[in-house]
Amino acid sequence: MGGKRYKRTVAFSKNSTNLFFHILTKCNLSCKHCYINPKQHGYETLDIYHIKAWLDIFAQKAKKTNLIILGGEPTLHPELAETIWHAKTVGYKSVTIDTNGYFFNSIISRVTPNDLDYFSFSLDGATRKINDTIRGKGSYDKCVSALKKSVQEGFGTSLIYTVNTLNIDELDMMVPLVKDLKIHRFFIQILGIRGRSAKSIQKGASEKLNQVSPSRWMEIVPKVAEKLANLGVKVTYPKVFLSPKEPFECAGLVADNYFIFPNGRVYRCPLCEDFPLNSQEIHKNRLIHRPKINEQDLFNLNIPEGCVMNKLIQPCNITYNKDGKPEYKIACCLLKEE
Ligand code: SF4
Ligand code: SF4
Repeated sequence: MGGKRYKRTVAFSKNSTNLFFHILTKCNLSCKHCYINPKQHGYETLDIYHIKAWLDIFAQKAKKTNLIILGGEPTLHPELAETIWHAKTVGYKSVTIDTNGYFFNSIISRVTPNDLDYFSFSLDGATRKINDTIRGKGSYDKCVSALKKSVQEGFGTSLIYTVNTLNIDELDMMVPLVKDLKIHRFFIQILGIRGRSAKSIQKGASEKLNQVSPSRWMEIVPKVAEKLANLGVKVTYPKVFLSPKEPFECAGLVADNYFIFPNGRVYRCPLCEDFPLNSQEIHKNRLIHRPKINEQDLFNLNIPEGCVMNKLIQPCNITYNKDGKPEYKIACCLLKEE
């Protein structure tokens, strides 16, 4: 606690790898903003043989790779503990499980803080009312109780908050909650127009659940992040908007991220996940490149609006001045402030 906290933009680097491994797409919840799209990502639950084989593909760079195991809901996988142990044996730099907390007891009874680095819980409101409106009735209580248990048992514990028009007003109220719960890391995410949120926004079904405007984002998010950082919590949030002077970089070109789905699709850009644009796939337990046209062909396009995929799928967050020039560039969705 105390001391000056520094804000920094986390630079992209090829020397560090992040592996987002979706071991199944099944989930017990149906959150309004879920980005999982089984039509694109498959309905499979990978068996432990394939999980181990796919983790082994990256064995050579495991020491510099952060592994994030997710779903769907990974705690629904009967062999999640074996997955964690195998990742440790292979030597991954860090292992994190993203969870909604419902079946936390089933996994916490099998692993210890020595087996993994973090449990990351998703909560989308400081109050039961707002969180449960987005994530489903009862989800607030389940998540908070699992969070408490995780901290009590000595696990590294993080919280993910996906900011949208329904919950932005409660972001500031998260500060005392995070303090009370003694959470170590706090991730603020921006709502992606992908999966279920894309569908409902297109249909106009949930008018209230949408991306917040640039001005609201910039007015609220950095201030709350600073308050949390002053409590000693490590806070990470996407940069989203770049001033004309700031350089634009596409992580697809300058970073080393893999988003793996149980049907074998491997993406380098999460914004592409709603389309069959994956540049790689796992076939017979080997990682292979896919023929053109795929996400890789988009990464090199240079446009004044910044991120090409953002312009294609969520242009609503770009505003233009009188001369028709964009007022700011949209940063890569993977560029973070810490
Ligand atoms: S957002 Fe996560 S918890 Fe919610 S339905 Fe999707 S996979 Fe399940
Ligand atoms: S979000 Fe945009 S900038 Fe980032 S990897 Fe995808 S296409 Fe590139």
